[in-house]
Amino acid sequence: MLSWTNSRRIGHRLVSATLRCRQCSRPAGDLVGFADRSLGEARFLPVDTGYMPVNLAGELRCARCTGQLFLDDIEALGKNVPLDEAGGIPFEQVIVGDREPAGTSAA
Ligand SMILES: [Zn+2]
Repeated sequence: MLSWTNSRRIGHRLVSATLRCRQCSRPAGDLVGFADRSLGEARFLPVDTGYMPVNLAGELRCARCTGQLFLDDIEALGKNVPLDEAGGIPFEQVIVGDREPAGTSAA
C-alpha cells in the first residue's frame, strides 16, 4: 500500500507528491496531505480526470497501463498551509474507487 515515505523525518508537515506510474512514468496527479497522517486523508489533484487511478485488488494502478503507482518528488510545503486550500478530491475516494464525476460527464 502507498504511504508517505520518510514521514517520521518530515513530521507533521504538509507535503505534496506526484503519483506516478512505474511502468509508463506518466503522472496520475498530485497528492497533498500531512506526512504523519494516512494517505486516505490527503487530497488528490488529478492531471486528467479521464485517467483516474484504478483500484485493482486493493492496489492503486495506472489507468493507462495498470502499472504500479508510486509517490514521486515528495516535497514539504509550508507548515501552516490549510489542507482545504489544496483543492482536489479526498484521496480516500480514489482509493476505494468511488468515482464521483466532478463536473465532467462520464463519456
Ligand atoms: Zn502507466
